[in-house]
Amino acid sequence: MPRSVRRCSFRNGGRESSCDLPAAPRRTTCVLHTPGDPKPLPRNVRRLLEERARAGRSLAGAVLREASLSGADLRQADLRGAALSGADLSNADLRGARLAGADLEGATLRDASAEGADLRDATLDRAVLARAALEGASLRGASLEEADLTEACLDGADLRGACLDGAELTGASLETSDLRKASLVGARLHRAKLTRAAIEDESLEDADLGEDGDLEQDEED
Ligand SMILES: [Zn+2]
Repeated sequence: MPRSVRRCSFRNGGRESSCDLPAAPRRTTCVLHTPGDPKPLPRNVRRLLEERARAGRSLAGAVLREASLSGADLRQADLRGAALSGADLSNADLRGARLAGADLEGATLRDASAEGADLRDATLDRAVLARAALEGASLRGASLEEADLTEACLDGADLRGACLDGAELTGASLETSDLRKASLVGARLHRAKLTRAAIEDESLEDADLGEDGDLEQDEED
């Protein structure tokens, strides 16, 4: 009788197993769901992730700390709750990716494309998002403490209740973004564009607007 392949025992939120990958040798979980801090990832991890993303298969809860995923094509990928702290996602394509609740602390997303990505309640403390494209992304409730968002594009992004304390937003574009209830204590907004952004005056009082405070915040008629 052929031995059946043991499936990864990862369960997403107590539901039925949401992972169809085989368990790793001597493990009950697959290579993506085996914990480790960080663990050695297989050489083909990028291809595995790209193929699963393309096929619409879940990558939720994947443990990918410090993974090298520069330039990876992860459009629409389901990476909810994934552990991606310290990962290199520079130049990655994360358009429409689902990253709600993901841990991206200290990750590099320099020049990444993440338009329309769902980053609600994600942790992005000290992440590097310089020149990242985040138009229309949801960052509601996300933590972006001391994140580097230099010249990032956040037009139309939902940043309600996000923590941007100490974040670097020099030259960032935040036009029509929603920053209500966002915390901007010590955030640097030099040359940031805030045209038609929804933001409370109290939030701006805590921020560093530069010497001349030359925010582009034209009131629309
Ligand atoms: Zn798994």
